Amino acid sequence: MSVLLPTTISGSLPKPSWLAPPEQLWAPWLLEGQALIDGKQDAVRLALREQEEAGIDIVTDGEQTRQHFVTTFIDALEGVDFAHRATVKIRQRYEASVPRVVGPVSRPRPVYVDDARFLVGETTRPVKYQLPGPMTMADTLADEHYGDRAALAMAFAEILNDEARELAAAGVSVIQFDEPAFNVYMDDVKTWGIAALERAAEGLECKTAVHICYGYGIEANISWKGGLGSEWRQYEETFPVLAASSIDQVSIEVANSHVPVELLGLLQGKDVMVGAIDVATNAVETPEEVAATLEQVFPHVPVEHVVPCTNCGLVPLSRDVARAKLRALGAGVALVRGELAG
Ligand code: ZN
Repeated sequence: MSVLLPTTISGSLPKPSWLAPPEQLWAPWLLEGQALIDGKQDAVRLALREQEEAGIDIVTDGEQTRQHFVTTFIDALEGVDFAHRATVKIRQRYEASVPRVVGPVSRPRPVYVDDARFLVGETTRPVKYQLPGPMTMADTLADEHYGDRAALAMAFAEILNDEARELAAAGVSVIQFDEPAFNVYMDDVKTWGIAALERAAEGLECKTAVHICYGYGIEANISWKGGLGSEWRQYEETFPVLAASSIDQVSIEVANSHVPVELLGLLQGKDVMVGAIDVATNAVETPEEVAATLEQVFPHVPVEHVVPCTNCGLVPLSRDVARAKLRALGAGVALVRGELAG
């Protein structure tokens, strides 16, 4: 798109309280049957209107149709037992109840394509759709069949590619793969993680993006980040590999993060989704703070490659806080555009 500093969000927004209990991950649906289908669509409409009013240019469905960014996709696959879950430690940080892989994985039918078609039909703005990345999928389940994370991730990558091609054909402009695991398993990223990601994105006509992050603002992540030291240099290892990859856009959290901003220079040639909204605090940024965060990166990333964004998903926040943060992002970007226009 031609607008300077096109704004977007990582993906998720809080759900209305009539659809799912607020401020929790894996919140159960409060509706069923046709009422659930209708309720999800109404929630998508609300999420779109809130983004449009806030001045977000590349909009998402706020992940209103999924319970969780990884397990909802995995649950739709064959070879996976989601009725008898197992508890595993994910991202080496916290325990979660996850599906079990019990046989070869396959996608019996499209997972999000109908939802994406509905989303595209409800807005005139370009749409971004999020899929879990293959490494993060392999890290968010109990594998009792493959016994080899690289092989499992590559099987997921092939499934993701089929899904992504259909999403692009449905009118999606950007497909983003969420790979928080890229900040945890640095060696695996280089040996097979990027290869699996590129396989998932192979041949896509639309823009492709990868969202790497230090996670939602939940307690397990906040304490993990506390132990990472005063400078977070994990990206120093992954960015050069990503810069050499076929992926078009890479996200990074900048607001209130300890990521040295000069590391962004390692992403030459890529669009950089710059996280200018902290998702780990209820304090709402001022437009001036958003502008200052963005201006910090301009010495390292050409302005035409900057895509202002949130640090991560907003799903664990209250709706009021999330809405205010969206507006702060839009207003902050408007300030910067005004300054650049001189
Ligand atoms: Zn994230």
